[in-house]
Amino acid sequence: MNLFQLNLYPGLVHSILLQLRDPHVQKDRLRFKFNLERLGFLLAAELAKTLPVHQVEVHTVLGSTQIEVPTQSPVLVTVLRAGLAFYQGFANAFDEADSGFIGAYRVEGDNAEHLEIRMNYAALPDLTGRDLILIDPMLATGGSLLKVWQLIASQASPRSVHVVAAIAAPEGVDALRQHLPQNSYLWLGALDQCLNEQAYIVPGLGDAGDLCFGPKL
Ligand code: URA
Repeated sequence: MNLFQLNLYPGLVHSILLQLRDPHVQKDRLRFKFNLERLGFLLAAELAKTLPVHQVEVHTVLGSTQIEVPTQSPVLVTVLRAGLAFYQGFANAFDEADSGFIGAYRVEGDNAEHLEIRMNYAALPDLTGRDLILIDPMLATGGSLLKVWQLIASQASPRSVHVVAAIAAPEGVDALRQHLPQNSYLWLGALDQCLNEQAYIVPGLGDAGDLCFGPKL
């Protein structure tokens, strides 16, 4: 698996991550969602550099020039509900992309080992021969992403598989490494230290879904 980590490089990612992690800034829900969206756009810009392109000619009012554009739009697939704001950054970048949505939720056990992931909704386009971008802001155990991947792999063979996360734990990266096709790509904003007993990323940022939309029952 090819791993790219945006916070290893200078740029806007650092101030965005700072705001995403800071509990005081997190109180501004609109800003939290906007920061996830901005980080999604930055990662999309990096990922786009690896997608196949072809030349088109554009005629302006004054002349013409050649421009490289993606050969085909990727398919964006995200997990409801926590993925929505991060997904929006990718949808802004890949404005012609088809999108798929999966309902997945954690059934909390006593600890990370007993954590169960349930899926209750799937709306997916045909992924045969397409570039798939799986979008989840928090890559913790990798359980939900791998469940989504199993469902997709049972239906179609994408041309390439890209997983994107704002923040990941090493445990989740290892799980993807073991179960995704070897030539998959993982695009991260940051790689954190570990998971805690409840399978939250440390230091992470907390519960991304709750911070975007409020606590749920
Ligand atoms: N989901 C979150 O929102 N946060 C984590 O730390 C792990 C999973």
